[in-house]
Amino acid sequence: MIIYNNNKLWEGHRVILPEFREKVAYKCRDCRYHLLVEGKEEVRPGCVEKYKDLWTRPPETIPVLLLLRMVGEKSLWEIVSRGDPEARACISFQRKLSKKDILRK
Ligand code: SF4
Repeated sequence: MIIYNNNKLWEGHRVILPEFREKVAYKCRDCRYHLLVEGKEEVRPGCVEKYKDLWTRPPETIPVLLLLRMVGEKSLWEIVSRGDPEARACISFQRKLSKKDILRK
């Protein structure tokens, strides 16, 4: 077992390839496409991965009326139906940019 201690491919008892590690270890809330849609009475999480071209950097929160105007009603339901903060990241996961990364770009 000692030979596995420093091996980055091993995660517990599973072998995880480096390109899949982020997808397995992270949750939707860590993704840059995860945002909070603010309504009049409630705030719902959502995923804007499909509409990522609308922003250079998706906002953390967005008013529901603004999002509704940008994508339409059908797409709004699609957005809020995904992006459960506790769900495992999907294949489209992109890590959230830190402020340091944003300033560098
Ligand atoms: S469903 Fe995928 S793309 Fe959307 S927030 Fe979650 S990990 Fe990111």
